[in-house]
Amino acid sequence: MSDGRYDILFEPVKIGPVTARNRFYAAPHATGHSPLQPNGSIALRETKARGGWGVVANQLSEIDPSSSLSNLPVDTFWDGQDMRLQSRLAERIHAHGALAAIELGHSGLRSRNLSTGVPPLAPTGLPILKPEVPVQARTMDLADIRAFRRMHRDAALRAREAGFDIVYVYASHDASLLTNFLSRRTNFRTDEYGGSLENRARLLREVIEDTREAVGDRCAVAVRLAIHEFYADHPLTRTNEGEDLMAMLAELPDLWDVNVSGWSRDSSSSRFEDEGFQEQYTGWVKSFTSKPVVGIGRYTSPDRMASLVRKGVYDLIAAARPSIADPYLPRKIAEGRIDDIRECIGCNVCVAMDGYSIQIKCTQNPTISEEWRRGWDPEDIPAAETPGEVLVVGAGPTGLESALVLARAGHQVTLVDRRKELGGRVAEESRLASLSAWGRVRDYRAYQLRQMANVNIYLDSDMTAEGIAAVGADHVVIATGASWRRDGVGSTRYTPIPGLDQIPTFTPDDIFAGVALPHSVLIYDDEHNYMGGVLAEHLARAGHAVTLVCPLPVISSWTNFTLEQPRIVGRLHGLAVDMRPRQQLAAITAGEVHLVAADTGAELGALHPDAILLVTAMSADDALLQALLASGADPARIHAAGDCVAPGTIQAATFAGHRIARKINGEPEGIRQREAPLLLAEIN
Ligand code: SF4
Repeated sequence: MSDGRYDILFEPVKIGPVTARNRFYAAPHATGHSPLQPNGSIALRETKARGGWGVVANQLSEIDPSSSLSNLPVDTFWDGQDMRLQSRLAERIHAHGALAAIELGHSGLRSRNLSTGVPPLAPTGLPILKPEVPVQARTMDLADIRAFRRMHRDAALRAREAGFDIVYVYASHDASLLTNFLSRRTNFRTDEYGGSLENRARLLREVIEDTREAVGDRCAVAVRLAIHEFYADHPLTRTNEGEDLMAMLAELPDLWDVNVSGWSRDSSSSRFEDEGFQEQYTGWVKSFTSKPVVGIGRYTSPDRMASLVRKGVYDLIAAARPSIADPYLPRKIAEGRIDDIRECIGCNVCVAMDGYSIQIKCTQNPTISEEWRRGWDPEDIPAAETPGEVLVVGAGPTGLESALVLARAGHQVTLVDRRKELGGRVAEESRLASLSAWGRVRDYRAYQLRQMANVNIYLDSDMTAEGIAAVGADHVVIATGASWRRDGVGSTRYTPIPGLDQIPTFTPDDIFAGVALPHSVLIYDDEHNYMGGVLAEHLARAGHAVTLVCPLPVISSWTNFTLEQPRIVGRLHGLAVDMRPRQQLAAITAGEVHLVAADTGAELGALHPDAILLVTAMSADDALLQALLASGADPARIHAAGDCVAPGTIQAATFAGHRIARKINGEPEGIRQREAPLLLAEIN
């Protein structure tokens, strides 16, 4: 049990007419589950309620067809047809003692409406806030504004009918019609809804009042407000209209949920922001209101959370990503199991999956989004019917995760690695500039494994096929990882780059091994995820002259999905890294590195770096697997997983480890790829 240090976090908090059982607030966040995947969406939230959160919120629920984010799988609450999903969600959250919150929203100038075909609504008719989408909004007249107020009021009434306890008025992330009215960037009206702050805030005030009048007798009314914006022109900040706005609205809602905007800042990765990074921007709000304030900032430390409450910064501690990485975080704190918290590493893979319009995945928690599809729970590993002996070779993310799941199921686990430390690639990568938080992938699993009597760990131990046969384990997991290729084969080129033998050539593995590179280094990034940019930063900080070449039009292009790309470019620019997108490394002759335009093949001349660092494809380290199979070992007892099968992200590696362990444990895969029973039942 808790020693009392964190009792303050378990105090009930009155929020208007309802009371949260504690101060843990599972914030609204996208889950990648569209209304077409209702069971998955419900099960994900239910797991959080079971994990002890005082409030569990759903994701954005759009209130009308005039607000459609099109390819993004947010929820809808257009009318009574959505009632079944929403009420079931509230019911499942209540079943575990949590309050259910619903974030009603209208995306205004962020709407694309490609599917609904209805022109987006905005205070001023402008191109929508997605410059690459050729859609323009129409200016709302006063009748439109009255209609919008009605639609929000009706949605609030539906939310009450569905059983929600907290009903949101959403004004954040630059993704709300209310924010569009509030901001000088997007509101150029000259009537009573434009001009002065009082006029621009009029619609927000009216909607808060409408919502309170509609549901305030039974539901708390929350406002999610971005009180600090990072936009170049007319940002809302504390000193730029923020205090004035709070003075106007302070006592209107029952709860203030404050954050920063845009979304890429609110969901900053650990590469750019530490835990608690929003305090400096939102921590002042509580001094302006008597109502409870919710603050967010990727909190995983209970000491930090308790301190915030004691100091009167926030009343409730919100979490999106930490509640994904560990849905049982509050329960673990209540039980005094602080070291058992699976801390978010801030990698934003979850965000990236939502950007792909699929169910979120998590590097730390392989069970997220699999609660219904596969029947997985992050803490509840079914006991093995016939516990056996399992040898896991490789203590990287795949090996660590599989060893942990198997040990929890009751197997006798032996974990072996040729390195002198646990963690594999995670240990190596977390030593690079700004990736230290990624070490949590190793730290959590290493701590758990070291507490277990049925686990033996052997480091600095090379295994051979003969050695494995001599161990005589019932099952063997091969998780030997991957190595970076040295021949130039990458995402845009499947044949080796000619001439690499004519210049000192390195890979990330050399950096991890501590090899010293010469002064000027050309990094060739044909992987396009984080590694090229991270190594450019790493080397530039160490005093190297760095040129970063990549064939795609955007540096570190996949990090657009993790919301990091513009900040990566900004940081590299600040470190004087010479960035060359759209350029392909064609060949090396006599120490000259020849570049061509990636799209036309036109020659761009030659560079003369001291060395090349290839960040291209990886090769699976499967020699041990092949030797084992060639030795006549029973293939049914040999299980390869992770990078040694198909190199990928660390998230893919932990997922592979989890999946293979459950398979060895005898669980049927049970994946339910398709889901729409609630909707199918209504087809006519
Ligand atoms: Fe945190 Fe990364 Fe998991 Fe997202 S994917 S919750 S950022 S660990």
